[in-house]
Amino acid sequence: MNPALLSLARQLDSADELAPFRGEFHLPDPTLIYLDGNSLGRLPRGAVTLLAELVEQGWGGRLIRGWNEGWWMELQTRIGDKIARLTGASAGEIIIADSTSINLYKLAHAALRLRPGRAKIVTDDLNFPSDLYILQGICRQTGAALHIVPSADGIHGNPPALAAALDQDTALLTLSHTVFKSGYTYDMAALTGLAHAAGALTLWDLSHSAGSVPVPLNAARADLAVGCTYKYLNGGPGAPAFLYIRQDLQHAVHNPITGWIGQDAPFDFGLDYRPAPGLRRMLTGTPGILSTAAIEPGVDLLLAAGLERLRKKSLAQTDYFIQLYQAELAPRGYALNSPLDASRRGSHLSLAHPEGYGIDLALIHEMNVLPDFRPPDNIRLGIAPIYTTFTELYEAASRLAQIVDGRLYEKYRGAQVAVT
Ligand SMILES: *Cc1c(COP(=O)(O)O)cnc(C)c1O
Repeated sequence: MNPALLSLARQLDSADELAPFRGEFHLPDPTLIYLDGNSLGRLPRGAVTLLAELVEQGWGGRLIRGWNEGWWMELQTRIGDKIARLTGASAGEIIIADSTSINLYKLAHAALRLRPGRAKIVTDDLNFPSDLYILQGICRQTGAALHIVPSADGIHGNPPALAAALDQDTALLTLSHTVFKSGYTYDMAALTGLAHAAGALTLWDLSHSAGSVPVPLNAARADLAVGCTYKYLNGGPGAPAFLYIRQDLQHAVHNPITGWIGQDAPFDFGLDYRPAPGLRRMLTGTPGILSTAAIEPGVDLLLAAGLERLRKKSLAQTDYFIQLYQAELAPRGYALNSPLDASRRGSHLSLAHPEGYGIDLALIHEMNVLPDFRPPDNIRLGIAPIYTTFTELYEAASRLAQIVDGRLYEKYRGAQVAVT
């Protein structure tokens, strides 16, 4: 390993104005190199105290009174408004609800209803499988057809092919804004413009963007969006997701799962459903207060750090890792499966290697590095600029090199684990 690259990392860390934010996270093993913040963000210290208090004083002490004391029922919109500030949306356009998969179901279904007479949904083969499964299910239920546009190289999106697929029969274009394998990020404004020109709506999955990549929901005139809070937003394992509906569309959107919490007056216990005004109509059942509340401390940290500074550091970090890759990893058989063009790059990088799976397991079991793995051969390195350091990236690259030099992957051939 080139020592100049290590001194560069130390220099970049000491000049990093976001460095103090690392201390706002619970770091029981400070030597652990955690590169999976794009799958499950670290635990904010603020969430530890908040949850302890909420469990004892809220649930334990206030009991049923907690619901009527105001803030439990406001959490979904209050945190939604904060996420709006991270994703280029306005107050009243984002609400916390359900999971990303369920929100995608609700909004894709609603989009078909908003475009009667059109029966085609366009997406691409870089989209997250759960998104495709949900869309396939909607097509079976409604008779709509799913058109999956292939990427040319499995890394980059294919805007010309998407444009060609959009026609007078298309109700919806739905894509991951940042794709989960390669980290390619779509130009939201350009694609939304193409969809609108064909008379279609857009539904963006922001799971790998929210909290790390600028998302111009309003500036792009995006119609609908969903996203995870447990990735870069650091909301906790299985934390509820969020959904976005542009203000002027909200009155026309129908929730396909009409439950009492989305009813205009749930505590009147009337027998007929009448949608609540605005975003609340997208709710269905009682929100999980503990898991919803746990989202806020992580979002507050990101707001304090500022998305512009986070993006700047994220790009400096992916640029720096690409330098390490070119100097030390490409010669050892690794291939970069992420965009070189910074404007199209999210905050994670994918490395492929013929021995990728064994390398991934050696990193986890022998090197105290936690990346994640996506078949067939992608080692994903999630860089969360709010707590990842440049020195950690140097160390990770150095260990990736050592594993290949020492052939440490060999003993993991054929091993299987459940969650990668
Ligand atoms: C992580 C992720 C999901 C996960 O959906 P859940 O309903 O939370 O399981 C969905 N879509 C994308 C693009 C993701 O990255």
